[in-house]
Amino acid sequence: MSKNDFEPEQAITEARREFGEHGGVVPSIERSSTFTVMEPGDMPEIFAGKRGPDRGGCYLYSRHFNPTVSVLDRYLAAMEGTEFAVSTASGMAAITCSIMQLCGQGDHIVASNMVYGGTYALFNDLLPKYGISTSFVSPGDTSAFEAAITPNTKVLYVETVGNPSLTVADIEALSKLAKAKGIKLVVDNTFTPMIISPAKLGADVVIYSMTKYINGASDIVAGCICCDQEFGHSLYDLNTGPVMLFGPTIDPQVSFDIMQRLPHLAIRMREHSHRAQVIAERLDSLGIPVIYPGLPNHPQHDRFIRLANEGYGFGGMIAIDCETEERANKLLGILQNEERFGLIAVSLGYSDTLMSCSGSSTSSEISEDEQKDIGLSPGLLRISVGYTGSLKSRLEQIERAVKKLW
Ligand SMILES: *Cc1c(COP(=O)(O)O)cnc(C)c1O
Repeated sequence: MSKNDFEPEQAITEARREFGEHGGVVPSIERSSTFTVMEPGDMPEIFAGKRGPDRGGCYLYSRHFNPTVSVLDRYLAAMEGTEFAVSTASGMAAITCSIMQLCGQGDHIVASNMVYGGTYALFNDLLPKYGISTSFVSPGDTSAFEAAITPNTKVLYVETVGNPSLTVADIEALSKLAKAKGIKLVVDNTFTPMIISPAKLGADVVIYSMTKYINGASDIVAGCICCDQEFGHSLYDLNTGPVMLFGPTIDPQVSFDIMQRLPHLAIRMREHSHRAQVIAERLDSLGIPVIYPGLPNHPQHDRFIRLANEGYGFGGMIAIDCETEERANKLLGILQNEERFGLIAVSLGYSDTLMSCSGSSTSSEISEDEQKDIGLSPGLLRISVGYTGSLKSRLEQIERAVKKLW
């Protein structure tokens, strides 16, 4: 039993009361890049940030606020239980803008060593150019975060369910630690929308790559930052806001398309979870080294249950340790080209199953030595379990495939 009673599905439904221009059941799409200021004397106040649409004033320019983007932002904030949300052109933009707002020259980050390859490269290779350094620690071990904190640390950074090891971070304990030290906890929740609500567990900033489950159709690249109003406004500040000034603006049409997929996000997440659970249990029963937080043998199985909202399962991501890259590639070939179980492609959260060997793809930014140090097997096959086809056939396909190798 989960102790969380937050219902993201209900929260987002209650927020979805936005009508189109003519009373349409869906909101209208506002594509204007610029907006008419009806009273000429209002312009200076708008530029001073005193008369924005959030303060009873009017819209100015769509890199700042756009009505359609704001509707999506309100839905995302409701889903996450935060005051505010800021959609961006990609998940990486959401990460970069949040970090650039929280850190400056000389500051330090303590980050999980099991993060998305792009995030690792940002922290390890790009941010040092701007005088921001990062210590990487094991995401499952809260005391390692504490030990790595220095007087310059401004941010603790984790993924709820780590990529690709599926290690579950103790968001509650990390939040307590961050609060005690006066620093911010930033959580990338891309793998577990609705399933886990990090802000409800004390995270200060929650990030999504909406490219994945939230959009769910593998046809859009987008991201978002869920946060309190003060942080949200700071991101949009005309003089100092990273979203305003780096400019990774999301398009209103794209915002609208994502909005139309939110009503079935909960249904999708439950089905991804259900199928991943059944497939993981079958593989486990066959003695295949499968990693899935929904299996009682997963090191953070109980922690996941403690953190999760009721009724959404354990997510759609499973991993199989094939030990070597050659063996992983062999299994990938059988699964895609012989059994048609899924597609060899990076990314996740699609209706069809997507599969990749993490060490040589989505985590290839992490050097081979570093991968060895953090225990990332070169043969780790990451599978984003889809919901197409019949589950019975899918089980037969993957069972036949693994039996050719084990
Ligand atoms: C894909 C991904 C990102 C990056 O998101 P983009 O939308 O591709 O910029 C960040 N974090 C995680 C966990 C991801 O899977």
